Amino acid sequence: MYANIIVDADISGISHPYTYNVPSNLEEVINVGACVAVPFGGRKLVGYVFELTDTAPGISNIKDILAVVPDTYVFDPSLLNIISWMSDYYVAPLAHSMRAIIPETMSATINSVVRLIDAEKKSDKSPAQIKIVEELIELGGAADLEVLKAKCNIDNFNAVLRQLNNRGCLETIQSLELPKARPMIVQGLMLNNINDANIDSNSITPAQNAILKELMQTKGIIKQSTLLKRAGTSASPIKTLIEKGMVKKVDIEVRRRSFEIDNDSCEKPELSASQKDVLSIINGSGEFSSSNKTLIYGVTGSGKTEVYLQSVENALNQGKSSICLVPEISLTTHLMKSYISRFGDQVAILHSKLSVGEKYDEWRRIESGEARVVLGARSAVFAPVSNLGLIVVDEEHETSYKQDRSPRYNAKRIAETRIDMEDAAMILGSATPSIESFYRASSGDIKLAVMDKRINDRALASVQCIDQREEFEQGRRNIFCEPLKDAIADRLARKQQVILFVNRRGYAHFMLCRSCGHTEKCPNCEVSLTYHAYSKTLKCHHCSETRRAPESCPNCGSTHFKQFGIGTERIEEEVRKLFPEAGVIRMDADTTRRKNSHAKLLDLFHEQKADILVGTQMVAKGLDFHNVTLVGVISADTILNLPDFRAAERTFQLLTQVSGRAGRGDLPGEVFIQSFSPDHYAIRSAIKQDYLSFYGHEIQFRRELMYPPFTQLINVISNDPSPNYALERLSEFAKRLQNNVKTGINIMGPVPAPVSKLKGVYRSHLMIRSQIPTDMTLQKSIAKVLDSMPSADRSSIIVDVDPLSML
Ligand code: ADP
Ligand code: ZN
Ligand code: ZN
Repeated sequence: MYANIIVDADISGISHPYTYNVPSNLEEVINVGACVAVPFGGRKLVGYVFELTDTAPGISNIKDILAVVPDTYVFDPSLLNIISWMSDYYVAPLAHSMRAIIPETMSATINSVVRLIDAEKKSDKSPAQIKIVEELIELGGAADLEVLKAKCNIDNFNAVLRQLNNRGCLETIQSLELPKARPMIVQGLMLNNINDANIDSNSITPAQNAILKELMQTKGIIKQSTLLKRAGTSASPIKTLIEKGMVKKVDIEVRRRSFEIDNDSCEKPELSASQKDVLSIINGSGEFSSSNKTLIYGVTGSGKTEVYLQSVENALNQGKSSICLVPEISLTTHLMKSYISRFGDQVAILHSKLSVGEKYDEWRRIESGEARVVLGARSAVFAPVSNLGLIVVDEEHETSYKQDRSPRYNAKRIAETRIDMEDAAMILGSATPSIESFYRASSGDIKLAVMDKRINDRALASVQCIDQREEFEQGRRNIFCEPLKDAIADRLARKQQVILFVNRRGYAHFMLCRSCGHTEKCPNCEVSLTYHAYSKTLKCHHCSETRRAPESCPNCGSTHFKQFGIGTERIEEEVRKLFPEAGVIRMDADTTRRKNSHAKLLDLFHEQKADILVGTQMVAKGLDFHNVTLVGVISADTILNLPDFRAAERTFQLLTQVSGRAGRGDLPGEVFIQSFSPDHYAIRSAIKQDYLSFYGHEIQFRRELMYPPFTQLINVISNDPSPNYALERLSEFAKRLQNNVKTGINIMGPVPAPVSKLKGVYRSHLMIRSQIPTDMTLQKSIAKVLDSMPSADRSSIIVDVDPLSML
C-alpha cells in the first residue's frame, strides 16, 4: 500500500503530496486524514495522509512511513478536498493550507535542533558550509533548524547541512512533540455496589455516613471536589470508604466552556412580515442543497439574526449541522446568548480568545456530532461538522474574513466552495453588501432577499452631514462643530447615550512642524508615527517603533511642532473638557488589548454606566444598544482618501454601519457626519442611507475602470531590503508570466506599493487583472512561474488572490 502525504515542510512555492510506502505493520492502523511521521530531506517531519492507494507510483526509491502519530488531529476527508482547492486557488503551499485548518495546539510537530560539534575544521569548507557554521556560532552553538535556515538564507541549505553532518561538524537532534491540548480529567467518585440496606451504620463514622448519603442522592458519578463541598468533610473519610470497597474512583472528563448556559430559554418572537418573506425565499428552492444560495440585504436593525436562527433550526430539524460565521468583533456576549438560549448545548463557539483547553473541547464536541451549530469567526469555516446543511456568513462585506498571511483565503469564498462540495445551503447577510455579492444577486447568480424596514417599523436614524469647509471658512476650528456639540449636550440632559466614531486610535494622527512641514516617520515603515498624549510618545501602528515625542522640531528646531489630525484619545480629552460631568468610555486597540476587556467595556456601556462611547471601527459594528440616540462621525474623509479602489465602498459601509447604531430602541436616532467632501456619492448615499443609490454609482465606476466584479485581481507583492531589487524581482516575474499566459490578462506594474516600506523592508507590487475566470488556469500559470524563480526570490514574493486591500 502507498500513501500520498501532505508533508508539513516550509517550502515556498507550490508543494504537492509526496508518495511513501506503507509498511505492512502500519497497514491496519493507517487511515486517510491521519497524522504520520515521515523521512523528508534528511530529517523527519510530520504529515497527513491525503490518499491511500495500491497503485505503485512510477518512481523508484520510495521511502517508508515511520509511524502513525497517535492522539493528534485527524482530517475529515471533506476538509482534505478544501486543502487542495485552497492551495490551488490562493497559490499557497499545501502545508500552509493544512495549518490554516488544524487548530493551533492540536497538531504534532517534529522539532529539529542543529548543534555544532566541531567548528575548528574550517579549512576545506565551501562558502556555503562556512556560512552555516558561522551563523550557528553566532546563535550560540545550537539552534532550531528553521531559525538557522532563515538566518543563512542560502540555496540548497538542506544539502549543505547534510554535508556538514556527514563530516561530523554538527548533528541534528529531532524530537516529536505531541499536541499540547488534552482532555481535562478530574477525579470522580461513585458508590460501589451498595445501597441503604447494606450499610451497617455502626461500622462507619458520621463523616463517612455524610459522604455515603450524598453519593446516594447523586445516583451516579460526582466530582470529588463537589462531593467534599456538599458533605462538608475532609478527603480522608473518602479514602477509607474506597479502602473498604464501598466507594470507587472514576475519571470524569470535564468540558471547559468559554460561556455559561442559562436555562431561561428565550421565546421565539413573532416574525415580522419581511422576516417571513425572507425565510420563504431561503426555503424556496432545494432547501439544504448547494443550489440554494441567498444574499440577504437587510438594513441595520431589520432582524437578520432571527432569520439566521430560524434557518439553523430548520436545518437541525432535518438532522443537519450549521456553521454561522461572524466577524470576530461581533462575538460579544449579546450574539452568543441568542444562539445559546435558542440551541443550548448544541452550540459550539470558536474564536481566537479561547484558551487551549476550551478550543480543544469545543472542537471535539463538533467532531463527535454533539455540537451541531457552530458560531465562530473566520477559521470556524473549517469546523469539522458532519452532515453540513447550512453556512451563514453574517456581515458578509467584512474584510476580516480574509486572512492576511498565507494562505490568503477569504472565509466567504471557502464557505461557498465547501457548500458546493458538501451540497449544503448558504446565506450571506449584510446591511451594506459587498459590491461583488450584490452584483451576483442582481444578475440572478444567487437569490436576493430584501429587508428594507427595521423591526417594529422603527425609523432609520436621520443623518446629516456637516460641511467642514464652511466651518473652516468661518474660522471655526473646533473638533466638534456646533450642531454636534449641541446634540451631545441635549442627549446628556435627557440621559440618552452617544457614540462618537473616529477612524484612528491615539491622540493625533501625527506631529507636524508648522514652520518647515516636517513630520516624524517610522524608520522601518515610512508611515507617520501616531502621537499618543497619555504616554507622550510617538508610535508606529505597523511595527513596534515607539519614541518620546520631541518638544521641538527635530528638523528645524521650531517650537511650532504640534499634533495634527485627530485620534480617539484626543476626542476623549475634548469630551471630558466640554462635558466634565459625562461618563466616557474609550474603545480602541489600546484599551481592548486584554482578554475580555472588549466585552467588559461594552457591558459597562450597555448597563448605562457611561454616557458617551468614543471608539474606532470597533464601535461601528453589530452593537445593539437601545438607549443610543446620537452618533457622531468626527471625520468621514480619512478612509475616502485612501489609495484603494474600494475606498468609496469602505466609506459608505462604515458610515452606514455607524449610523445603524443609533435609534435601535423606541427612541429615534440622529447622526452627524463631519466631512470636507460632503458631495461625494459615498457620503451622499450614506446620508440618505440608500444602499441602492450607492450601488448604482459604484457599479458603474467598477465597470468603467474594469475593477471587480467585472474582473478578477491578483496582487503580487515583493519584499526586499533593497528597494531596487524588490522591483527587479517583480519585473522578472512579470516577464515570465507574460510568456505563460494567454490573452485576457493584463499585468500592471511593478511599482512601489502604496505602503512602500514596512517593518524595515521595501515593498513593490504588480497587479494582475484578468477576465472573470471559469477555471484556475491563471493561478496555475502563476504557480508555474513562481516555481521557476530562484528559491530566495520565491520566498520573498507574496501572491494575494482577490486582495481586499491595495496597501
Ligand atoms: P440586524 O442584524 O438586521 O441589524 P438584529 O437581528 O440585531 O438586526 O435585530 C434588531 C432587534 O430586533 C434586536 O433587538 C432583535 O432582538 C429584535 N427582533 C428581531 N426580530 C424580531 C421580531 N420578529 N419581533 C420583535 N423583535 C425582533
Ligand atoms: Zn520644522
Ligand atoms: Zn513601523
